[in-house]
Amino acid sequence: MKKEARAEILTIGTELLMGQTIDTNSVYIGEALAAAGIEVNWKSTVGDNETRIREALRTALARSEIVIATGGLGPTEDDLTCRAIAAELRRTLHLDQTVLDSIRRRFAKRALVMPRNNERQAMIPEGATVLPNPHGTAPGLAIRLGDEKMVMVMPGVPSEMRAMLKEQVIPRLREAFDVKLRIRSRTLKACGITESALDEMIGDLIRHSRNPMIGLLAYPGEIHIRLTVKTESETEGDRLLDDLEARIRERLGELFFGRDAERLEEVVGRLLLETKQTVAVAESCTGGLLCHRLTNLPGSSAYFIRGEVVYSNYAKERLLGVPRELIEAHGAVSRPVALAMAAGMRRTAETDLALGITGIAGPGGGAATKPVGLTYIAIASHDSVTCREYRFPGDRETNKLLASQEALDVLRRYLLSHRHAGPA
Ligand code: AMP
Ligand code: MG
Repeated sequence: MKKEARAEILTIGTELLMGQTIDTNSVYIGEALAAAGIEVNWKSTVGDNETRIREALRTALARSEIVIATGGLGPTEDDLTCRAIAAELRRTLHLDQTVLDSIRRRFAKRALVMPRNNERQAMIPEGATVLPNPHGTAPGLAIRLGDEKMVMVMPGVPSEMRAMLKEQVIPRLREAFDVKLRIRSRTLKACGITESALDEMIGDLIRHSRNPMIGLLAYPGEIHIRLTVKTESETEGDRLLDDLEARIRERLGELFFGRDAERLEEVVGRLLLETKQTVAVAESCTGGLLCHRLTNLPGSSAYFIRGEVVYSNYAKERLLGVPRELIEAHGAVSRPVALAMAAGMRRTAETDLALGITGIAGPGGGAATKPVGLTYIAIASHDSVTCREYRFPGDRETNKLLASQEALDVLRRYLLSHRHAGPA
């Protein structure tokens, strides 16, 4: 077959268009095809409508060698994919006895009688190869169009689709199109910096790197730098990724915190373990989110001792010993109160370190001198208590997330800079 293999994803289902079901299939397929060295150039979604499915397939086949469709293979009247595809490709449908038998067996195993309409799922377009579906009734289809193109059709149920894609569709495509390339990605994560500031630091690398390519993705409180490499050999790909990672990390220094699936709380947890330090947390505006994140990891009891959600002024006084006069003089959202929260938390929890967070999450409660998003994060250790001021730009939930993110970063940077000093 032709070497070039541009793929296109077509997801089918009215529920996808109406926003009732999130199209996770195309995300998964895109990722899996990229990893398998098959480039995806387009994706589109169409409802359960025969005319429009045909139109979408026609458009896709005009510009791509590979079309991967999912959805609409069910047994009901609104599942039209198979009929539409057969009509568009001018293939007649015939009853496939093997498929019918296997659907019957699925029902028999569950002591059920197969409803008549499931017969529809055994109607296969002429010349199509059936891709058995061990996890459901709807089989997939592989249809070759001459020597140039292939249409693959899979069920919409994500778990059925995933198994079929990995076990049957990708191996067939790699074979048919003689795909030798592998596409691999690596994500480097940075925090405590904006996307544009990061672009200034590594913009030249982004512009000049072709293989690996570099892309930036911004998330609340962190930026992901995605490196994508295309090579025939995995070792060569790894070497190129390693080289570029080293160059980027050299520029980022402590802004870099982790790779791929690694989360900020994981990195912090590891540093706490490594330095054998314990931590406690006093939270106001984050309402326990920081405790939640710190305890998301198995084994966190080795370093996380305690957290207090001190939302009211009274709670700050009673549980942490923050002086009432301090709150009255400076307001609950202030540097002195954050410092007193961190110090008070450390004293009552008897930990090596403690954090104090106080801020205005919004949308109400802001003022000219203290706008929504104003947040103070303090850290107390055996010999110091320091605090930083932040102005978060988001809505309430985003501000909470950003505050928890910055608090984790404060802790991370403290641990990094005191890594070799050891605990008191
Ligand atoms: P269907 O194959 O169209 O009968 O869909 C079966 C189930 O899979 C339904 O619950 C759909 O909502 C779901 N589904 C279909 N297409 C997708 C998709 N692209 N992403 C995620 N779920 C889907
Ligand atoms: Mg459907």
